[in-house]
Amino acid sequence: MSEPAGRSAPPGRVPVPARPVVLSGPSGVGKGTVVQAVRRTCPQVWVSVSVTTRPPRPGEEHGREYYFVSEAEFEEMAAAGRLLERARFAGHWYGTPRDPVARHLAAGVPVLIEVDVVGAGQIRAAMPGALLVFLAPPSWDELVRRLTARDTESAEGVERRLAAAREELRAESQFDLTLVNESVEDACAQLVALVTARPVIWKA
Ligand code: 5GP
Repeated sequence: MSEPAGRSAPPGRVPVPARPVVLSGPSGVGKGTVVQAVRRTCPQVWVSVSVTTRPPRPGEEHGREYYFVSEAEFEEMAAAGRLLERARFAGHWYGTPRDPVARHLAAGVPVLIEVDVVGAGQIRAAMPGALLVFLAPPSWDELVRRLTARDTESAEGVERRLAAAREELRAESQFDLTLVNESVEDACAQLVALVTARPVIWKA
C-alpha cells in the first residue's frame, strides 16, 4: 500500500503493504457467482484468474474464468514456483498464478482472489496480511439445494462436492470474517467494500 496522499507515517512507522482479499467457502455456496458480479459491477477490482486442469464448462472461456491447462503444464508451473497456492479439488488441480497478484498489488490495484479453503490457508501462510473472507450459505439445506441444482455435474460429481463442502464448512473459524450469501447483490456489495477499502494502517 502506498502512502495515502497528504498523510505521512508517524515517526518510526511504515505503511502496511497492500494485501489481497481472499474469498473462499464451501463448494456450491456461490463464490463464482459473487465473483462474476464483482467483475461486472466493479471493474476497478482486479480478479485473479486461476489455472485449472478441469475441463471448461459450457460458456467458460480460457483466460476469463480460468486458464485451462494440462496436468503437465500445471506441474511445470508449480515446480517453477509460479503458483502462490494450489490445491486438488474434486479430482482436478487449481492454482493461483503468483506474478499477476504481486504486480497488481504493487500498482495499488485492489486484488480479489477466489480459492477453496485449502488454498486460502496457503495464502495466509505466504501472505500473513491477506484478508480471508469466508462466504457461508444461509443454511446447510440451502447449500445442498444449490449443489444438486447444478446440472453441469454428474451424480458422482455432486456427491464428491457435498462431501468436500462438509469438510470446508469446518474451516470457517480460520477466516478473518464471514459473509452470509443471502443474495448475490448484497454479498457482492459487501465484498467490493472490503476489497476497495484503503485503511491507513501503520506498523512499527
Ligand atoms: P469450480 O470447478 O466449481 O470452478 O471450482 C471448484 C473449487 O475450486 C471452488 O471451491 C473454487 O473456489 C476453487 N478454486 C478456484 N480457483 C482456485 C485456485 O486458484 N486455487 C484453489 N485452491 N482453489 C480454487
